Amino acid sequence: MALSVSPAFVVIEPQTAVAVSLERGDVLHVGTTQGAQVADVALFARDDLRDSLSPGRTMDYNERLIPQIGDILFSHRSTPLATIVADSVGVHDLLLTPCSEAMFARRGELRHPSCHATISAALARYGLGPDDVIATFNAFMDVRVEGNRIVLYPPPNAPDGVVSLRAEVPLIAGISACSSELTNGGRCKPVRYAVSAGSVYPKSDA
Ligand SMILES: [Zn+2]
Repeated sequence: MALSVSPAFVVIEPQTAVAVSLERGDVLHVGTTQGAQVADVALFARDDLRDSLSPGRTMDYNERLIPQIGDILFSHRSTPLATIVADSVGVHDLLLTPCSEAMFARRGELRHPSCHATISAALARYGLGPDDVIATFNAFMDVRVEGNRIVLYPPPNAPDGVVSLRAEVPLIAGISACSSELTNGGRCKPVRYAVSAGSVYPKSDA
């Protein structure tokens, strides 16, 4: 399903991240530009920042590995944080953690930029730090379970792809253009994001 309106997107340059504050009902659109690029999304309940995205609960409650339109992203406390309301790509990951400086160091790549570092830095103005960035919704990341192995495939070649998340509570979100060349088909590219105001949130759910 594609977006029916075109929100004003802001580009997130390669190997960088941004942080945004969302009201309940706002929709966060996260998109590719050239395709074949992952965007990691960290989510925190703004009213208590200790309550953050739990990939495990999200996969458990939705009964699938890859969330799809209508699925809810849950927190560690089982708080519904956001609902996927549109998605033109359909390839995402909840299994892997954001790439980090330590992860690159394990491969011998010292002081490599990482989603963990860029998202942590972007979230600093909301009082969040590196120890808070534990898990992310990895938009457009193609991770498959093959037997007992986790196999990483290049992100789909989907230029102008968008996945849209409606905030179910006030949120702080960190969004990165993933810093890993290996994850992104050999070259890190920009991503983009936009926020639509939440006036369309169903009042019956209030
Ligand atoms: Zn990354």
